[in-house]
Amino acid sequence: MKVFGEIEGVDVGSVFASRQELGRAGVHAPPMAGISGNPKEGADSIVVSGGYEDDKDYGDFIIYTGQGGNDPNTKKQIADQELTRGNMGLVVSYNRGLPVRVIRGFGPNLNRTYQYDGLYSVERWWADTGRSGFRIFRYTLRKLDPLSNTIPQGDITIPEGTSEPPRIETKTVRIIRDTAVSEATKAIHNYTCQTCSTRLERPGGAYAEGAHIQPLGRPHNGPDTSDNILCLCPNCHVLFDGWAFSIADDGSLMGQLQGKITEHRKHQINRKYLAYHREHYLKAK
Ligand SMILES: [Zn+2]
Repeated sequence: MKVFGEIEGVDVGSVFASRQELGRAGVHAPPMAGISGNPKEGADSIVVSGGYEDDKDYGDFIIYTGQGGNDPNTKKQIADQELTRGNMGLVVSYNRGLPVRVIRGFGPNLNRTYQYDGLYSVERWWADTGRSGFRIFRYTLRKLDPLSNTIPQGDITIPEGTSEPPRIETKTVRIIRDTAVSEATKAIHNYTCQTCSTRLERPGGAYAEGAHIQPLGRPHNGPDTSDNILCLCPNCHVLFDGWAFSIADDGSLMGQLQGKITEHRKHQINRKYLAYHREHYLKAK
C-alpha cells in the first residue's frame, strides 16, 4: 500500500545517492519509473529529472510529462502515451487531492543524485501532442504550502477494526480563485449553471463557480476575461476541468452531459476557447 505525504524521518532537502536508496527510504519505490502510482491508489511520488523533452521545472511549479513512449537514450517521444498505470495514478491523485512527493535528480545519468523536495498537488492534467508529434499526458504540479492550502485528514488510510492512531495525512481541497470578472459573469446568469441549469440556493446568496474554458496559467495561458468563462455549478465544473465533457461551437454538450449550454446575450463565449477545450478533451479520450 502506498504512503501518501511526508515519510517519517525524511526531511525536505534530503539527498539520496541512488534510486535504490530512494526506494529503501520509502520516498520513491520504483527503481526505474518516474511515477510511483497506479489507477487504484493514485500516485504518491514522482522523480523530475529532465527525462522528457516537454518537461518544465519552475521550482514551486512543475509541468510534468507522463510515462511511456519515449526513447531513454535520445529522450525523444517515439510512441503515444496511454492513460494507464502511473499516468492514471496522477489523474487519481488530482481527483482525490492527494499530495505527491517530488524528487529531483541531478547529475549525469550514471552518477545521479536525488533530492526530496517536498509535497506538491496535481493542479491540472490534460492530453497534448508533444514536440515529437505523439500524444503525451501532462500535469501541472504546485508546491503545497503546509500552512494555508491544506487541511489535515486523519481518516484516509485507517484500516477497519484497528486501534492504531490514524496517520495524519495532507489533502488539498479544490481551490477556486474567483475574480471580479468571473463574479460579474456569474451574476449575469443569476448563478445558474450554464450546462445543467442547477441553481444552488443558500442563505446569503446562490452559489456558482466561474470556470475558465482555456485554463489560466502556464502553459495554457487562457485569459481571465468573461468570453473565456462559464458559469457552472461545482459538479459541472469538476467534470469540465476533468475532461468528462466538452462543448461544440453551437453550444451542444459532448461526452458525459447531454443537451445544450444556456447562453445569455450579455455574455459572449469566444468559440476559440471552446475549440481549445474540445481539442484537449478529444485527445484525452
Ligand atoms: Zn451544472
